[in-house]
Amino acid sequence: MALMAAHGEIGPMPDCGIFADTGWEPAHVYEHLDRLEKLLPFPVYRVSAGNLRDEIASVRPTGKFLKIDIPAFVSNNGKPGGLVNRSCTRDFKIDPIRRKVRELLGIAGKRSPKEAVVEQWIGISIDEVIRMKPGREAWQVSRWPLIEKRMARSDCLRWMDRNGYPEPKKSSCIGCPFHSDAEWRALSKEEFADAVEVDRRLRDTTRGIARTKGELFLHRTCKPLDEVDFSTAEDRGQLNLFLNECEGMCGV
Ligand code: SF4
Repeated sequence: MALMAAHGEIGPMPDCGIFADTGWEPAHVYEHLDRLEKLLPFPVYRVSAGNLRDEIASVRPTGKFLKIDIPAFVSNNGKPGGLVNRSCTRDFKIDPIRRKVRELLGIAGKRSPKEAVVEQWIGISIDEVIRMKPGREAWQVSRWPLIEKRMARSDCLRWMDRNGYPEPKKSSCIGCPFHSDAEWRALSKEEFADAVEVDRRLRDTTRGIARTKGELFLHRTCKPLDEVDFSTAEDRGQLNLFLNECEGMCGV
């Protein structure tokens, strides 16, 4: 979407791009961003609320309350159960971007304007249409240019190819529990080992103090990540939770 704007195919030209860095994205995301920054005619601001990986299931100094942050799966009597409430999308994506937009507008710490003063473009494609969520604040309106152009992810990849750009891989946090098995398999050896470490930490640090009855896992089967059999998993019919979650702000 940013490159289409740079080519004049979506307008008006944006004032800036904003990347909310959770600190836990795979290397290819940062490499793509480095490339993109050199190609775009507008600035790209990188904003951050810290490192999500370090925060996950870390014991807060204020006593027994333990914040899990990510949408981890919780086992129910040893069987796969539901997801715990997450705060990562809001804390590490939505809020840092909102803060930067307010700073750029000169309204940080001030009362919000009652009318729309900024248009925020969100780069989800037509195949992710269920991630479209209306904006919650009058001063900021959302726009989804790829949906307007009825472009699917495959159309975007064809556009990149036609214009001589390398194919960008999908982005999301290294250990996001919304990963499909195909996305888990696509991690590099080092990234997978990193996720396994965080998966273990989820259980080690939460035992007995988390406000959940079962144990926590990154994988939907509620098995330790390094014990999941990815070799036989087929994605046919597998629900992609990421599509209906993340409020359209992760992975764009
Ligand atoms: S990609 Fe997953 S883990 Fe990362 S902020 Fe979004 S929901 Fe949370």
